[in-house]
Amino acid sequence: MGFKIMPKSALADWVNRLRADYRVVGPQPRHGQYVFAEINDPADLALDYPTSVLPPKQYLLPPREVLFNFQNSGMRIEANIKVEPTVILGVHTCDMHAIRLLDHVHNNGYADQHYQTHRANTYLVSIECLKPCMEHSFCKSMGTLTVPEEFDLHLTDLGTAYTVDIGSEKGEKLLEGFDQVWDASDDDYQLLSRVLTEKWPRFSYRLDFDVTELPDILNLSQKSSYWNELGDRCLACGMCTKVCPTCYCFDVSDTVDLTLKNGKRIRTWDSCQVEEFALVAGGHNFRSKRALRQRHRFLRKGKYQYEAFGMVGCVGCGRCAQACLVHITPVETFNELYRRSQRTEPAEVKA
Ligand code: SF4
Ligand code: SF4
Repeated sequence: MGFKIMPKSALADWVNRLRADYRVVGPQPRHGQYVFAEINDPADLALDYPTSVLPPKQYLLPPREVLFNFQNSGMRIEANIKVEPTVILGVHTCDMHAIRLLDHVHNNGYADQHYQTHRANTYLVSIECLKPCMEHSFCKSMGTLTVPEEFDLHLTDLGTAYTVDIGSEKGEKLLEGFDQVWDASDDDYQLLSRVLTEKWPRFSYRLDFDVTELPDILNLSQKSSYWNELGDRCLACGMCTKVCPTCYCFDVSDTVDLTLKNGKRIRTWDSCQVEEFALVAGGHNFRSKRALRQRHRFLRKGKYQYEAFGMVGCVGCGRCAQACLVHITPVETFNELYRRSQRTEPAEVKA
């Protein structure tokens, strides 16, 4: 299927048209940062945003979600799956790679019906990143600077217009009946090619090694004293995982109403970096030290998920580095472990 062209002047009409049939969300400025939120006025949409505080993951795995309602007698359990067809506009390519990982996790093994329902009713309109979004991003090193195939529509900014690549039938549906798009001409293809070629030198490789070496580097670093150094700095606040597009750990709690007869089971985002995360029956905490939790976090991103799914669990968005008050960053961590793996390091992580 060929590319289409949509002039920027038609964007507002298109968004308004989508709003008639879907909840439309996209990046908008809020208090000096950008957040994904519902678009009530197309003028609020900022497709050239740098990065968002929370990733678009929030629409597939809501921070707080009622999984089912129940009656205390145990006689009635009612799944609570809210279907709300949603178009997410302006998804960066790193976040698209994160959704690819989330799709794999939630569609295999223990398939998650809530995630699957949200995903089936979500339309992904991604956008090509033409310059680094912030100092902490390292998407080029992680191989996430181009869009994976999961997009429904993919936009590239050509200056006065967007090219629109249609990736699925869902994407076609979003353009159905909209007459302000047309087939790209040879000149448009040439311009697109130039824009895409010119973007690459603007991004730099920030890892000192090839990402394919990351699982081995982390494996060799399991006993590194560097985890103690990170543990001494870490505040165990959990912000790094809360903003991460690939983290999906959650907590589950039950609440009952005042009659004590009806209740809800609620899922909320959790963080492996907070002390209670690994607290189990009998008061035993199998990851009570911050050093061990930091090690778990980075090994999960760069080794465990790669081994389980064939995909690295970090997409290089840089949000965790931006959110961390004590400046613990994946780039610094991975590069430092790489440097130490090049020399013998006797000290061991405190158990
Ligand atoms: S670990 Fe940090 S840089 Fe990597 S995907 Fe998560 S938030 Fe982004
Ligand atoms: S954001 Fe920083 S301080 Fe907070 S848990 Fe993560 S690494 Fe530790």
